[in-house]
Amino acid sequence: MTPPDNDPRTEPFDLDYAPAPQSTAVVDIADEYGLFIDGDFVESRSGRTFATTNPATEEHLADVAEGSKDDVDRAVAAARNAYEGHWGALSGRERGKYMFRIARQIQERARQFAVLETIDGGKPIRESRDVDIPLSAAWFFYYAGWADKLEYAFPGRRVAPHGVAGQIIPWNFPLMMAAWKLAPALATGNTVVLKPAETTPLTALLLADVIRDVGLPPGVVNIVTGAGATGAALVDHTGIDKLAFTGSTEVGKRIQRATSGRRLPLTLELGGKAAHIVFDDSAVDQAVEGIVNGIYFNQGHVCCAGSRLLVQESVAEEFTLRLKRRMAVLRLGDPLDKNTDVGAINSAEQLRRITDMVDAGVAEGADLHQPDCDLPERGYWYPPTVFTGVQQSHSVARDEIFGPVLTVQTFRTPQEAVDKANNTPYGLSAGIWTEKGSRILWMAEQLRAGVVWANTYNQFDPASPFGGYKESGFGREGGLHGLAPYLRAAGRVA
Ligand code: ADP
Repeated sequence: MTPPDNDPRTEPFDLDYAPAPQSTAVVDIADEYGLFIDGDFVESRSGRTFATTNPATEEHLADVAEGSKDDVDRAVAAARNAYEGHWGALSGRERGKYMFRIARQIQERARQFAVLETIDGGKPIRESRDVDIPLSAAWFFYYAGWADKLEYAFPGRRVAPHGVAGQIIPWNFPLMMAAWKLAPALATGNTVVLKPAETTPLTALLLADVIRDVGLPPGVVNIVTGAGATGAALVDHTGIDKLAFTGSTEVGKRIQRATSGRRLPLTLELGGKAAHIVFDDSAVDQAVEGIVNGIYFNQGHVCCAGSRLLVQESVAEEFTLRLKRRMAVLRLGDPLDKNTDVGAINSAEQLRRITDMVDAGVAEGADLHQPDCDLPERGYWYPPTVFTGVQQSHSVARDEIFGPVLTVQTFRTPQEAVDKANNTPYGLSAGIWTEKGSRILWMAEQLRAGVVWANTYNQFDPASPFGGYKESGFGREGGLHGLAPYLRAAGRVA
């Protein structure tokens, strides 16, 4: 059933928004940043640096030290000394105190972190302010609470940290990914060498400042900035006892191959191509909001993005119409404007990737729709995009795009929805919109996805485990499950 064109339920309303720019006075970006090793900022041994830029303006922000093999070696040695010298033997209660301090400092400096995150990465300030930074603090609070309760987390078992953990994180949630990695590692008594992504190193370096301010002993957390080669040096280092990686499936596979001959505990959180399923009995307006949030949140730079809309055939036409009308009023532009919904693409390289994949979709015969919107002249931008007329064989329906691009396919029965949803090499997340609780439970059981949201999407909580199946990786982050990868297989207490 198609509503008439002048139907007030679906007519976009035209509101002008006055600019609401976030002040940047709270951040002070240095010209140069060093590596954070053994409690101090130091130059890289090679003296090499790389530039980090603001993707919304292409403005050069700072030169950041590029960690070499030597630097990774220094960082691992510092982490080892800290583990053996002090941290490994410290009580959980004391570890927890440091972590609570870090959490409180993130809260106190939340605005500074949010503005810096948006400047360095391009995401809307509304998201960094309301999602990334509060969740980063929440992750430290949550795991700080576990630090002195590990014996209750694993009753009857002796628990012991691995030692030195190597951690590599991506650019889509820079501070939050650092928090997801550091908090469980520290709670369980490990020390860490963290490698942030090369396009978004600044909030991790601000976190290093916090770590120093709260008096965390030197060497417990080391932050080595750099690109893939720095990450590979960390992966190859024989001095690490545990490795955790979040990033693309391609690099994840490379890391698994590189570490396969070693007895190195590994956690991989990789890509996704989530099905977002809408049944004919769903609350339509909420479902439209959910779909929009699922794919256009953070410009679609989200591994669990709901990038494949599966909508029941009987409501597909109306639903797609409403979706397009909602897309038409998404505000794209200055990420520092508090009204902005869709910010900048994180890098020129990512913009190229998205453009190539969308072009391939058009060439394969899918129907492209992009609302009229003016893209700023400078910076990296891509409009919210939806493909209809999509076949399962189209690359846009199969490959992870990691951009603001949604595909629409239809289904008739719940079983067909399940079959289509599971027809992917990935298995990270899925979403369901329906009124029927029994159907939600049945679907959730059938879907091969680590996280299934029902009548909502993109909800994160530190108490809730997150992670994938198949090519989306293995291991869980968050909750009790997120502690286990940082502990040695613990024997029964006699
Ligand atoms: P994305 O698609 O999100 O850019 P990548 O997998 O390329 O994901 O990057 C995620 C993280 O992995 C970044 O910190 C990046 O520098 C790092 N990285 C890239 N290549 C390698 C590699 N060969 N070994 C280890 N880390 C790598």
